[in-house]
Amino acid sequence: MAEIISGRDIAQKIIETDLIPRVEKLKSREIFPKLVVILVGDHPASASYVRQKEKFAAKAGILAETWRFPDTITEDEILAEIEKINNDDTIHGVIVQLPLPKGISVEKILAKIDPQKDVDGFTAENIGKLFLGEPCLQCCTPKGIIRMIEESGETLEGKNVTVIGRSNIVGKPVSALALNKNATVTTCHSRTKNLAEHLKNADIVIVAVGRPEMIKGADLPKGCVVIDVGIHRKEDKSREKGWRLCGDVDFESAKDVVAKISPVPGGVGPMTVVSLIENTIEAAEK
Ligand code: NAP
Repeated sequence: MAEIISGRDIAQKIIETDLIPRVEKLKSREIFPKLVVILVGDHPASASYVRQKEKFAAKAGILAETWRFPDTITEDEILAEIEKINNDDTIHGVIVQLPLPKGISVEKILAKIDPQKDVDGFTAENIGKLFLGEPCLQCCTPKGIIRMIEESGETLEGKNVTVIGRSNIVGKPVSALALNKNATVTTCHSRTKNLAEHLKNADIVIVAVGRPEMIKGADLPKGCVVIDVGIHRKEDKSREKGWRLCGDVDFESAKDVVAKISPVPGGVGPMTVVSLIENTIEAAEK
C-alpha cells in the first residue's frame, strides 16, 4: 500500500508553522493582510470553494471578504470593482472566482488585476515571471503541488516528471515549476501519441486531465510518486448521498503499485487554498 501524501495535513502544518507567525509579524507592524474574493452568480461549486477559502483565511488569521454580485452584472461593472480594489491599500489580494457568466471576458477581467494583488497568479505578468523562474505570485494549484511533493520528502532535481494535462492553470505552469527545480519534464495532452511510453520511466506523475479515474494502476510505473489533481463527483449508489468524490487517478488500482499518492479529497485541494492564503500574506509583506 502506497504512502498517502495528505495535502490536508501538510496545509495545516504550513498554516501553523509558517503562515500564522508571518501574519503575527505583519500585525505587529499594523498591517492586516486582506483578501477579496469576487463571486458572480450562484454556481454551487464556486460557493463551496469560496467557503473553503474563507475557512483557511480565518485559520491563518487574515481577513477575507467575499464580494457577491448577481449574474446580471456587466463586464464594465466588474472592471470598475477591480479598479476600486487596485486603488485600495488595505486590500492585498484579489481573486475572481471562475467560471464567470457567459459574455464576460475572463481575459479582460484578469488583465485588469494589479499583478501585485494577483494572488491567483493568473495575470500574464505573473505567469511570464513563473516561466522565467523569477520571483512572482505563483498560481496556486501548481505552487501547492510542488510544495506537497517536497514536503513529502521528495526532491525534484534530476527526476523524470510526467505531467498529463497542459491547461494554463495547472499542466503548463506545474511543468515550468518542475523544470525550474531541475526535473526532466514531459508534458502530455490529448494529442500525445502513446501516453504509456511517456509514463514508463516517470519518477513522479502529475495527473490533471479532468477525466474521472482515467489513469489506472496498470498505467503507472511501479514505485513512482503520483499527484492527482482532478476532482469529480462520481455517482455511487452505495453511498447515502448517491455520489462520492474521485480524482483523475483510479486510487484503488493505483495504491498498490505506486510508492506515494495524493488522495482525493484531501490532496491537492487544500494545498491550492493554502497557497492562495500564502500569496495574500506574501503580497502584504511586499
Ligand atoms: P482542463 O483545462 O480541462 O485541461 C485538461 C488537460 O488534459 C488538457 O490539456 C487536455 O489536453 C488533457 N487531456 C484531456 N484528455 C486527455 C487524454 N485522454 N490524454 C491525455 N491528456 C488529456 O483541466 P484543468 O483545469 O487543468 O483541471 C484538471 C483537473 O484538475 C480537473 O478535474 C479540475 O477540476 C481539477 N482541478 C483541481 C484543482 C484543485 O485545487 N484541486 C485546481 C484546478 C483544477 P488538450 O490540451 O489537448 O485538450
